[in-house]
Formats: sequence, C-alpha cells, structure tokens
Amino acid sequence: MNTLLPTSIVGSLPKPSWLSEPEKLWSPWKLRDDELREGKLDAQTLAAHEQRRAGLDIISDGEQTRQHFVTTFIEHLSGVDFDRRETVRIRDRYDASVPTVVGAVSREKSVFAADATRLRAAADQPIKWALPGPMTMIDTLYDDHYKSREKLAWEFATILNQEAKDLEAAGVDIIQIDEPAFNVFFDELKDWGVAALERATEGLSCETAVHICYGYGIKANTDWKATLGAEWRQYEESFPLLQQSSIDIVSLESHNSRVPVDLIELLRGKKVMLGAIDVASDTIETPEEVAATLRRALPFVDADKLYPSTNCGMAPLGRRVARDKMVALAAGAELLRRELA
Ligand SMILES: [Zn+2]
Repeated sequence: MNTLLPTSIVGSLPKPSWLSEPEKLWSPWKLRDDELREGKLDAQTLAAHEQRRAGLDIISDGEQTRQHFVTTFIEHLSGVDFDRRETVRIRDRYDASVPTVVGAVSREKSVFAADATRLRAAADQPIKWALPGPMTMIDTLYDDHYKSREKLAWEFATILNQEAKDLEAAGVDIIQIDEPAFNVFFDELKDWGVAALERATEGLSCETAVHICYGYGIKANTDWKATLGAEWRQYEESFPLLQQSSIDIVSLESHNSRVPVDLIELLRGKKVMLGAIDVASDTIETPEEVAATLRRALPFVDADKLYPSTNCGMAPLGRRVARDKMVALAAGAELLRRELA
C-alpha cells in the first residue's frame, strides 16, 4: 500500500431497502431470479461508490450479494442439506436452527468470482474480499457425515483455498478470512485452527488477512460481552500463533472495547487492521476519537503497518449511520496522517 494508514471497512454494509429489509440479519431478499441477481450487483456497485465517496482507501463489496457472511458461502457447496435442520449452540452463545452436513462437502464452481470481477471494475483502489473461516463455518452447521469438527474444518479450508485462488485471479488484492470463533474455542485454535487458516490461504500471492472479533452489535453478542469482565484478553490466545503464521494482516476490534491495546504487541511484525469504529452503537465517532484510538495503538505497531478499520461488519446498522461512520473513519485516519507527516 502506498498510502499511510490505508482505511477499509471489515466487510459488510447495510443493504438498500429495495433489496432486503434493513437493520436485520438473515433478512430475506425482496427481488427474485434475474432481478435479484441484477439488484445485488447494483447494490454492490453502490456500496463501492459510497466507500469511495467516504474516502476509504481499500474497497470491499459490502457483502451486498450475500444474505449472511457464513450461510451464503455454504449454500453454494454440495454436501449440506439446508432443509434438514438441527438446533445447535453457536459460538457457545445462542441457539440457532442450522443446516446439516449429509455428505462429502465440495465446491462445484466459484461462489464469488463473478461478483469480485464486477467489484474490480467498479473501483480503482485495492479491493478486499472476506470469506468465512473454517472454524466459524463448522460452528454454524450440524455435522452428520464427518462427525469430526477438525475433519470438516479441513475440508472447508481446502474449498476456501480454491475460492481464494479464484478471487485472486479476479483481481482481489486482500483476501480476508473471518474467524470470530478464534475468540471462543481456544483448544481448537491451537490444535488445528491456525493450520486450517493457513491451508485456506496457501499459495496465494495477494495479501491475506484474518478478522477476529466479538461479533456484530446484536443482543446475543452484547450480552456475552457483558460477561467477559473488565479486560477482554481473548486475543492473547490467537495473536502469538498468528504472529508466527503466514497471514499478513490481523483485523481486531479496539474502539469502545475492553481489549487491552498492548495485546497488539503480540503481533509485532504483522500488519494490524485496527477497529476504530464501534459497530454496536449508532453514535457517530468524531474524527478526533478515531485518531485517538489509532494513536493508542502506535506504541505496539509501526505506523506503516497500521490499517484503520471498523470493529466488525456494519450490516445490522442503518445506512446513514454506516455511511457517516465510514466518513469518520477516513477523516480520523487523515488527522493522524497529518500528525505523523
Ligand atoms: Zn467481526
């Protein structure tokens, strides 16, 4: 990246109300068939445009073509029966009715390459594409075939690697793997989590990122966060392993969170995508607040490795709120850039 402090969102943005009902996760589509296909891509182009207008340096698809960041990818794979549902506990936090793995999982064709090609054409800036991580994927499924979380995760890692290579070929500059599950399942993280992540990104020449967070600003997550005490030290488990890994960038939450900022030191040498925007609140950060959050990280990450970002996806927020937050992010980064110059 040529720009100092290159800004980007973690991934999702709210969808236009003509595409799906706003401020809701898993919101059903309002269009169908060809109209839906066209509508999703129009929304993606609009999302890219809004990020550029806000002044962001790295452009994402805003996840406008997906109903949900995990489910939509899985829907395109064979081996998973979406009509056969079981209730499981997701990330040890809340119960959900999820699809069942009934046979060997595989990907027949690329899920997002065509969308990424369209995004590439809509932006001159570097583009970033997020995919769900293997551990997060297995955690939203009932497995009646492999009967081993590790085996299923490894299969998904192989599929993700195929998809990542297609996205790279479509012109994606940064491939980001979303692994919120890394903040929950520490034994699996150590046993195979980071290995599966590296398998998913193996052989890529574009940059690779992993996003680990405390989730969207929905009630189940805010209730969970309230139980975590005065200091959130979950990153202490994953950061030393990631520092040793082949992943280039680590995305974490910081603004308004109880994560001790000095944990970033554990990543020394890696690029740090720092959440300087709270996605669990409608209050728009001031540029000064954004700059202050970024500045606090500077003792622990070199300025040329600091990537200002949001704490997590903004899908559940109102559109205007998300837009104003992007503007604040860009303005806050610019304040700090001037200070550093
Ligand atoms: Zn997140």
